[in-house]
Amino acid sequence: MCGILGMLAPYNIAQDLYTGLYGLQHRGKESAGIVTYDGINCWHHADMGEIAMVFRGDILKNMPGPVGIAHNRYSTTGESEPRNIQPIRDLWHGQEFWVAHNGNIVNSDDLRKWCQGRGAILETTSDTGVMAKIISLTGASSFEEAVITAFPRFRGAFSMVILYMGRIIALRDTFGFRPLSLGQKDGAYFVASETGVFSHLRAKLLREVEPGEVILLGPMGPITLKKFSSPEKKFCIFEYIYFLRPDAKVFGRRARTVRERMGELLFLEHPAQGDFVLGIPDSGEDAGRGFANISRIPNGRKVILRTHLTSRTFIEPIQELRERGVELKFVFFEENILGKNIIIIDDSLVRGTTLKKFIARLRDAGAARIDVRISSPPYRFPCHYGIDTDKIASELSAARYQGNIEEIKKWIGADSLGYLSIENATKAIIEIPGETLGPSDFCTACFTGNYPIPG
Ligand code: SF4
Repeated sequence: MCGILGMLAPYNIAQDLYTGLYGLQHRGKESAGIVTYDGINCWHHADMGEIAMVFRGDILKNMPGPVGIAHNRYSTTGESEPRNIQPIRDLWHGQEFWVAHNGNIVNSDDLRKWCQGRGAILETTSDTGVMAKIISLTGASSFEEAVITAFPRFRGAFSMVILYMGRIIALRDTFGFRPLSLGQKDGAYFVASETGVFSHLRAKLLREVEPGEVILLGPMGPITLKKFSSPEKKFCIFEYIYFLRPDAKVFGRRARTVRERMGELLFLEHPAQGDFVLGIPDSGEDAGRGFANISRIPNGRKVILRTHLTSRTFIEPIQELRERGVELKFVFFEENILGKNIIIIDDSLVRGTTLKKFIARLRDAGAARIDVRISSPPYRFPCHYGIDTDKIASELSAARYQGNIEEIKKWIGADSLGYLSIENATKAIIEIPGETLGPSDFCTACFTGNYPIPG
């Protein structure tokens, strides 16, 4: 999972790109990069680390140009190291272009071999570097045609922005796994992973980039260059469950509204009684609110403090840091916990390490009973489309116990455990007013093992 952003405007845009990228920090914090083009030169700066650390001092002031792209990275294919930082540069007919990608293609090994067989040298180990090289090696009458010709060779999840000679090209795979939306303000046009970027830039949402669509962002706005047939949508349901910031809109539905509905359906599917409901901040808060509202059990959010000393623990790259992050992340008010029956709501149980520690801390503070409800199904199968659970397949708690709820309950230290079914997870999205959707419009592979594209 990564955050990508492209922009074209009648003014220098480096600061807007920084602001927008900052609004996508939750999608990846291993590296950040921006490249602008001033009509003659490309201006590039990128490094490992979070955005505020990467762009210190006067860096942005020295990046002129009215057009550019930006990226923050959460590694999938390819290691977390400097050579894989995006945007990635390559050449087409001797002219440089830059690529920023969110997702993961499943045939990058084959494509890498194909490139190497033609004598190409790949400096990155990422799938994005391979995709850039494929475009670089594609003969066509224009760069746009080269991108369109290369598109069908990529199998998997890709939402992508490309900078080439003052033009931005945006593309999204035919399944539409990862989000990508278009925005506008005063002659400026944007394409971004999440719609929240447009709020930060005081822009308005135009529409989503359609699955299978290749778009040119020009001074008159977005122009569809090509629409590949998209027989079925497979939007990542885990985006709604966890990744999207609560204000993000996909298919006309806000993530927060969907998560609250998931919490309501969770109570109807797995009722519980207690002194209060505690949605784990930040990811379980919306579902927790839904669960509390429909059950009329008080919301216990005030019994803990979310310190904001750390950000999302799940995307910390090292296990030891992740565990220390949990200790820093929450402060527990023992006087409000002692002797209480507590219903914990979280959005998902991937590794389960955060929740296990959270429960242990509540027990230390004197909780009498802890019932856990998860607003998604057991996460049992690794993702091949842009989340690094491929790398941690052996750590998935539900996979380790073959989905045995009783065993998982014991491992995390809860008194009871209930998961939202996949039927109710999709129902929670479909029921909210917006674009017409059906249960088959989502990728649910990490919960069901039904992979839309074999890995
Ligand atoms: S496997 Fe899971 S995380 Fe990956 S795209 Fe599908 S729903 Fe999303």
